[in-house]
Amino acid sequence: MSTTMKVLLGMALGIAVGLIINLTGSNVSGSWVNQYLTNGLFHVVGSMFVNALKMLVVPLVFFSLVCGVCGIGDIKLLGRIGTKAFVLYLMTTAIAIASAIFFASGLGIGEGMNAVANNSFTGKEAPPLSSVIINIVPSNPISAMAKGEMLPVIFFSIVFGVSLLMVGRKADSVSSFIEALNEIMMKMVNVIMAVAPYAVFCLIAKAIANLGLDLLEQLLGYVLVLIGVLLFHLFVTLQIILKLMSGLNPLTFIRKMRSTQIFAFSTSSSNATIPVTLRTVTDRLGVKNSVASFTVPFGATINMDGTAIMQGVATVFIANIYNVDLGMMGYLTVILMAVLASIGTAGVPGVGLIMLSMVFAQVGLPIEGIGLILGVDRLLDMIRTAVNISGDAVVSAVVAKSEGQLDESVYNDPDAGHHTA
Ligand code: ASP
Repeated sequence: MSTTMKVLLGMALGIAVGLIINLTGSNVSGSWVNQYLTNGLFHVVGSMFVNALKMLVVPLVFFSLVCGVCGIGDIKLLGRIGTKAFVLYLMTTAIAIASAIFFASGLGIGEGMNAVANNSFTGKEAPPLSSVIINIVPSNPISAMAKGEMLPVIFFSIVFGVSLLMVGRKADSVSSFIEALNEIMMKMVNVIMAVAPYAVFCLIAKAIANLGLDLLEQLLGYVLVLIGVLLFHLFVTLQIILKLMSGLNPLTFIRKMRSTQIFAFSTSSSNATIPVTLRTVTDRLGVKNSVASFTVPFGATINMDGTAIMQGVATVFIANIYNVDLGMMGYLTVILMAVLASIGTAGVPGVGLIMLSMVFAQVGLPIEGIGLILGVDRLLDMIRTAVNISGDAVVSAVVAKSEGQLDESVYNDPDAGHHTA
């Protein structure tokens, strides 16, 4: 059985077991199911796996990015790749949130509803744009690496790679040393992936067992519209962008991304999924490491289409519940704020809600309104993370294709990288 099939099976079994535990109400605290399964075995195995993925992220990004920069060998080309990726990331995020606002207001979700928030939520102010920009440059690269801060790590790696190129022949031994380290890191990804199907099972079973499924009913409108727009973005908008901008076959893309989406779904973290996304984008989609090593970690940090969609739908929903008319200007501010907030925040579980509080603060919506949707956010976080990383992969493929850095024979080969990704 291929790895993809095993991972799919892990997911399906995880959903089934999670649902059984949830619906039979056997997950109450103190019960053996809670003690030994959800908070025991599932929690331990799942968390160990997520830790293992996170363990790979910083060294993998550093080594592969340095190799990528050396591989390109041309600083101008590097600048072009960076600019294209940045513009496309902002553009897809803006389209995502605009379509979310369009659908949610068209369907009038939350209108006439009078829900009382039973969870309080304390928000966060948006950091000023200047500090987001300043912090891209790390004052201490080791500290940035230790904290797993992606933008500073990317910055340091690129400057390191460029300087390595400039030193030239004298640094050849360092380049080959880093290349070997990069290979070792890629091997480590494979080693850790060997347990992926079991870990996916545990992560998903635990998440579904803990979901407040009774809450889903109350918020059904919000949840359904949000999932609908997320799927629309994943299967329609992103695929149109892929087809129009690169001519690549969307069906191949969808098929090859499936298992990576499951990892994003089960970890709820674009950052923790970086090793898997990177491997799929290079081994299965044929994007050269020179592009992918930059666009994937960069996208995991600044590109969050799924999260932007959640913000659009949630804004309309809460505005309708509280009877606030945001007007055209209000919605434009929401779009702008959501795009900016996604640049400054990392792809980790639940960060979408924090970004939402930044958006609400800006347009004057009550932050405690977020308490209303808190209960169902866990499941939605899983789905939107899968959309987030798919957006990163589409942009990686588009940028690579436009720069002649995509191997179409790999993209079109159904079995390319099949044993690994
Ligand atoms: N969990 C999401 C991610 O990592 C971010 C979010 O929407 O909360 O991409």
